[in-house]
Amino acid sequence: MFDNLSDKLDKALHVLKGHGSITEVNVAETLKEVRRALLDADVNFKTAKEFTNTVKEKALGQNVLTTLQPGQLMVKLVKDELTQLMGGETAGINLSGAPSIILMSGLQGSGKTTFSGKLANYLKNKKTKKPLLVACDIYRPAAINQLHVVGDQIGVEVYSEPENKNPVAIAQNAIAHAKQNGHNVVIVDTAGRLAIDEAMMNEIAEVHQAIKPHETLFVVDAMTGQDAVNTAKAFNDRLNFDGVVLTKLDGDTRGGAAISIKSVVDKPIKFIGTGEKMDAIDVFHPARMADRILG
Ligand code: GDP
Repeated sequence: MFDNLSDKLDKALHVLKGHGSITEVNVAETLKEVRRALLDADVNFKTAKEFTNTVKEKALGQNVLTTLQPGQLMVKLVKDELTQLMGGETAGINLSGAPSIILMSGLQGSGKTTFSGKLANYLKNKKTKKPLLVACDIYRPAAINQLHVVGDQIGVEVYSEPENKNPVAIAQNAIAHAKQNGHNVVIVDTAGRLAIDEAMMNEIAEVHQAIKPHETLFVVDAMTGQDAVNTAKAFNDRLNFDGVVLTKLDGDTRGGAAISIKSVVDKPIKFIGTGEKMDAIDVFHPARMADRILG
């Protein structure tokens, strides 16, 4: 994961890691390299600039150069700041409802349906949860089938109404069905389009308004780099979602989306997808991710 970024940051920090004493010039050069590594990883310019400026200010504030192990302290400052940039703390999802309603949003191909299944499986394994998956894609019958396949695979019921062309009604009927059948979590998988368009945004906004989810998650393909961040912004402007799911982190991604998304939309990454299988889901831990990136 993020091998290229890790290599570049390792090289950038190498000088600091090796020296007992370092100079202002070492620090400045290192931070320049760090910024370049972030930009190469598709972190947006403003985020990368703010990142290195903050590390620099903290280094000055702590009089890093006069400490015993200035290099180690600088590396720690970079790691801490990277953790903060990715949200600081781990953010959970709101499961307080009876049932808890979770709405999935995102573009087609982002991994929404796969993630809906993974989340249902993850919650089901917690024993106290009995999820219901809901197919709300009224355009692609294949999408409804795909959710049924996923549901069968993990032993979770899937609610669908293939003849109904009203996603709001389907979602509402599904919630009523959940209440009658003892499901305490309802995961609504919505239609995705290949690009953001007004009709799609209106449709999901209507579903959102009608079912008032406890948790709205935005699913995005990490491989799409800067586009991931732009798409997140567009969805957040309409839905004011609660959290991000970053999928396909098992692929050859550069890392920019993971690093920039929180600072751009001010919403935490809550889960990551690391494969096509139903158990390839992880809670997102900013500090652990920073550790992985910095090695
Ligand atoms: P949707 O259109 O947003 O519902 O996207 P899908 O769930 O159908 O996923 C699109 C493709 O991405 C499928 O081939 C999935 O198997 C694949 N996919 C989803 N999540 C992941 C992931 O975390 N890693 C990898 N490698 N592939 C994924």
